[in-house]
Amino acid sequence: MTKRPPNTHIQVIACANQAWARLNLSPPCDLQAVCDFLDITVDKCMMYNDTYGMFMRLPDGREIIKINSCLSYQQMRFTWAHEICHSITTTGPVTLECRASFDEEQLCSQFARHLLVPDEVLSRECARLGHPENNRFGALAELFQVTKELMGERLKETGLDRPQVSQEGRRSALKVFKDLGVEWP
Ligand SMILES: [Zn+2]
Repeated sequence: MTKRPPNTHIQVIACANQAWARLNLSPPCDLQAVCDFLDITVDKCMMYNDTYGMFMRLPDGREIIKINSCLSYQQMRFTWAHEICHSITTTGPVTLECRASFDEEQLCSQFARHLLVPDEVLSRECARLGHPENNRFGALAELFQVTKELMGERLKETGLDRPQVSQEGRRSALKVFKDLGVEWP
């Protein structure tokens, strides 16, 4: 029996997190290492018609990702990560004529966001750098080599855009509550 490819947001996010664990990645995500692991050939070339990139699987099983080299470096990385997901979510030959469904495109973009900026790694880096205000924000985008827009979205999604209560702050707050005889909410 062949395994069903991942087809939910939770499943593709799990795949992205597994890539980090399995390949022992650290930011910025080494997309070439992911492609080497999956045996995907990557070609960066000039592409027209507003094409960001494409994924192809030849009848002999060889997989190829093409990325438009006219894009900014960060956009190229997002496209690259997105196209990797097409390799994971599809089976059988994928030709130029194949059009992925809207749902699959959404799935691949979700995978890309998490492959480039995993929750856990972002949380760790935020703790290391301090609260991501102003310059920290740019520093995070630079560290993960993503656009500031994407970093902003990921910080919001993970709740890391808000000031985090330090362990010390939490302990002293707990003590105040304890002294007052109230339970910590
Ligand atoms: Zn796509």
